[in-house]
Amino acid sequence: MSVRFGPSGIGGVKAAVSNLEEFHRLGLRACEVAYTYGVYLKKEDAIIIGKRAKEMDIKLSVHAHYWINLNSDEKIKIRQSKKRILDCCESAHYLGAYLVVVHVGYYGKDREQAYQNIKSQILEIKEEIKKNNWNINIAIETMGKVNVFGGVDEVLRLVKETGCSCCIDFAHLLARYRKVNYSEIFEKLKETGVENIHIHFSGIEYGEKGERRHVKTKENELKELIKALPKGKEIVIINESPDPVGDSLKALEIYDSIK
Ligand SMILES: [Zn+2]
Repeated sequence: MSVRFGPSGIGGVKAAVSNLEEFHRLGLRACEVAYTYGVYLKKEDAIIIGKRAKEMDIKLSVHAHYWINLNSDEKIKIRQSKKRILDCCESAHYLGAYLVVVHVGYYGKDREQAYQNIKSQILEIKEEIKKNNWNINIAIETMGKVNVFGGVDEVLRLVKETGCSCCIDFAHLLARYRKVNYSEIFEKLKETGVENIHIHFSGIEYGEKGERRHVKTKENELKELIKALPKGKEIVIINESPDPVGDSLKALEIYDSIK
């Protein structure tokens, strides 16, 4: 099996290649480009960075903008959200990234209606990706706040019904449900037939409404996750803690010690 660890954040355009070289030297083989505040790499730069990542066998993914709501009451907001996701998909294609991770939106008044609205937007996005021959998929992320769309079951239902992929953010799930059963989630994932398993991992602080903030990753939580990883799958584990490189290395060390 192949399990890759790496940080969220490739750095600015000038630092990206040297950061990748450093990740490679440290043994990290994944990195998520954070377009959370917008696409910041030009096409030419994305191509150069992507080529270097490929040479060093670092698997890239992209995180799309935070400002997205595919279930807005306002049509213009849905249009803008879709454009933001597609801009990320285009840049991800130039980067040679395999996934674009998306926070899809809010529930509004009716949860099932929210699901249906989000589903139809995802199908349209997938259609656009296909039309453009972009070699990527979008991955819907499990979310940490209870009023935000992104519970495990609804995300996996989208995977089954639209062919999108998913990003299992375990810190978010812990904040949302107060406890996480890793094997149960991997079992559910298996039922969807999803090929690549994309994971976000870090420590988290949470309260009544769920997620408050990401904190440094706890060693015992890392161990529990690593022991539960399914065999024979391509797995990417992106760390989103305040020290994503240090925590990715800690995870790699634990992985090497128990695999
Ligand atoms: Zn996210």
